[in-house]
Amino acid sequence: MDKKLQLDTILAHAGIKTDEATGALTTPLHFSTTYQHPEFGKSIGYDYTRTKNPTRSSLEKTLAAIESADYALATSSGMSAIVLAFSVFPVGSRVIAVRDLYGGSFRWFHQVEQEGRFHFTYANTEEELLAALTEDIDVVYLETPTNPLMLEFDVAFIAEKAHAKGAKVIVDNTFYTPIYQRPLENGADLVLHSATKYLGGHNDVLAGALMTSDKELYENLFYNLNTTGAVLSPFDSYLLLRGLKTLSLRMERSTKNAQAVAAFLKDSPAVKEVLYPGKGGMISFKVKNEAVIPHLLNTLKVFTFAESLGGVESLITYPATQTHADIPAEVRKSYGLTDDLLRLSIGIEDSQDLITDLKFALEV
Ligand SMILES: *Cc1c(COP(=O)(O)O)cnc(C)c1O
Repeated sequence: MDKKLQLDTILAHAGIKTDEATGALTTPLHFSTTYQHPEFGKSIGYDYTRTKNPTRSSLEKTLAAIESADYALATSSGMSAIVLAFSVFPVGSRVIAVRDLYGGSFRWFHQVEQEGRFHFTYANTEEELLAALTEDIDVVYLETPTNPLMLEFDVAFIAEKAHAKGAKVIVDNTFYTPIYQRPLENGADLVLHSATKYLGGHNDVLAGALMTSDKELYENLFYNLNTTGAVLSPFDSYLLLRGLKTLSLRMERSTKNAQAVAAFLKDSPAVKEVLYPGKGGMISFKVKNEAVIPHLLNTLKVFTFAESLGGVESLITYPATQTHADIPAEVRKSYGLTDDLLRLSIGIEDSQDLITDLKFALEV
C-alpha cells in the first residue's frame, strides 16, 4: 500500500488487487490453515495461518497505511491487542495511564498490578500526567478522547516529554480513528484499536489492531502474537477489510449527526451537562434527575440500549452498570464518572429521527 495516497483513497481501496494469481478485485478469503512448501527447505512466505494468512496480511497492510505506520497486526479483539502491547515490556515496568479509561482496560490493568507484573499510576489531567512522568516510567498509556468523559490529551506534547524520560507512548485510538487523529504522526510509538468499533463499523466483527513504525517493537509484538495465538481469523479479517472501505463516510456522517444531537442536548431542560469535543460520533451527557434514566432507556426506539459503539446504528450505554461496571463506584465518582451519565454512540441514521427519539424519551 502506497503511504503517499490520501486516507480516503487508501480506505476505499482496502485490500483490492492483492491476488495476482486471478486478478480478483477484492481480497480473497483464504480459509486454509496450512500451505504447501514448493520443495524441501523452501516456503513461499506462508506456512501456517497463526503465523501469517493472506487475507489477514492484506488487512494488516491497510491497517498500517491508515495510521501512517510501517507495520500492523490484527488481533482477535481490542483487549487482546492491549494485552499484546504490554507483553513486550518486562515484569516490573511502570506505567502512567489516563484515569478515565475503557472499563475493560482498567480491569486488566488492575489485575496485572495485583499480580505484581506492572505498576500503574493514573492521571486525570495532562498536568497530573506530566507531574508523574519521572525517569523510572517505562510506558505512557493514553486514550484520547477519554472514555466516557471525552477529555482530550495532547499526544505530540506528551510524546515529546515521555521520550525525554525514555518512556514509550501507546495510544488507544478507538474513538477518533485515523480520520481525526493519527498518533504515530504525533510521535506515539504504538497505536492500538478496538477494531470492533469504528474500524469495523457494523457491530458484526470483534477485532483488535496494533500499528507501529518501530521495527524492533513490531518484531517483538509479532513474535509474541505468533507464540500466544490471539490472531484475527480469516473471515473476521475479510469483514474488517470490508468495513474499513466506508470508514471515512461513516465518520463524516456520524460527526454531522453527533453535532446536531449535542446541540439539541445542550438546549434540553432535562440535561445538566453535555460532554462532546466537537468531532467524532461519541457524546456523553449528564441528566439533571438520575431517576429518569430507566424510563429513558426503556422509551428510546431509534437508539438501542446496548454496550459498544462505533457502528452504523446509534446506541445508548449506561457506563455505570455496563462498560465501566468493573471500576469501583468510589473510584468512578472521584473522577466524574457519576451515575447520572449516559453515553451515546451516534450512527448514520437521519439526525432528526435521533433527536425526536431523545426528545420524547427525555420529556416525561
Ligand atoms: C471496546 C474497547 C476496547 C476493547 O475492545 P474489544 O474489541 O471489546 O476487546 C478497548 N478500548 C476502547 C476505547 C474500547 O472502546
